Amino acid sequence: MFQLDAKVAFITGGGSGIGRATAERFIAAGATVVIADIVDPSAVAAEIGAHAATLDVTDAAAVATALEDVVSRHGRLDILVNNAGIIGPATGLLSDSIEGTMGVLDVNLMGVLHGMKSGARLMDSGSVIVNTASMAGMVGFPGLSAYGMSKWGVVGLTKHAAVELGPKGIRVNAVCPTGVDTPLVGDEPADHWAVRSQSLANQHVDRLAFPGEVAAAIHFLASDDAMMINGHALPVDGGMGAGLSVQLIEAATMQSTRDGDAFQ
Ligand code: NAD
Repeated sequence: MFQLDAKVAFITGGGSGIGRATAERFIAAGATVVIADIVDPSAVAAEIGAHAATLDVTDAAAVATALEDVVSRHGRLDILVNNAGIIGPATGLLSDSIEGTMGVLDVNLMGVLHGMKSGARLMDSGSVIVNTASMAGMVGFPGLSAYGMSKWGVVGLTKHAAVELGPKGIRVNAVCPTGVDTPLVGDEPADHWAVRSQSLANQHVDRLAFPGEVAAAIHFLASDDAMMINGHALPVDGGMGAGLSVQLIEAATMQSTRDGDAFQ
């Protein structure tokens, strides 16, 4: 079940958190895995039995070269996980800087686009792309508009790519995690408050997700067992989507209070 024998996978943001956990699962399932990260992932790769590539996903030419390198070294590209991401500014719609907002779009959305454009050209029928979006790409959260617009973009791009690439035999899906216990939502800097507290306030499992729980969903979508699943954004959300509105109003009130009632 969910075997990935003889598959070759490339995972961006693979040096940490969800990307690393996904690499570990893929390797255990029999895949050859290249982890790519802006922070040199060689040490992590050596630890888990992956190959490493240092890569900034905002650099379209570098993404293309890295993916071509995978095919020349390993013979094929079966699975592409566009997972690298940052939070960016999370101070609120009225105060987030345009530069910061463009920065998060560059990594979280354009980085996924660069991966899909270069990866799909190299993929044969039967290949699969999984993009890491977020629950912030399915609903709104106070304070997270910059990050959220990037993730709504990833969900939209996933669906458009799925209908375009489906006839070529390439499936494209996304996962939409709730807050996950990774360095992305660590206690510092204070901006991360929004992700951690709003996730816990709105979901119906009383803890953040573990990286491996998101990796499990990515693994399923990447496997041939999910052959009929294409163009979906799969929540890994602890029940968040089941009952949102009341809690979101409470979260907005908390944010407003924290900002010194900036909206009054
Ligand atoms: P993480 O910080 O542990 O991992 C993200 C990795 O991406 C890091 O290793 C980082 O170096 C890398 N990265 C950042 N910018 C990059 C760039 N320009 N090029 C290449 N690599 C880059 O965080 P994570 O939680 O594992 O995040 C993985 C994905 O999951 C992200 O897309 C994030 O938005 C998404 N996500 C996370 C959460 C959460 O609460 N942690 C929730 C929903 C979605």
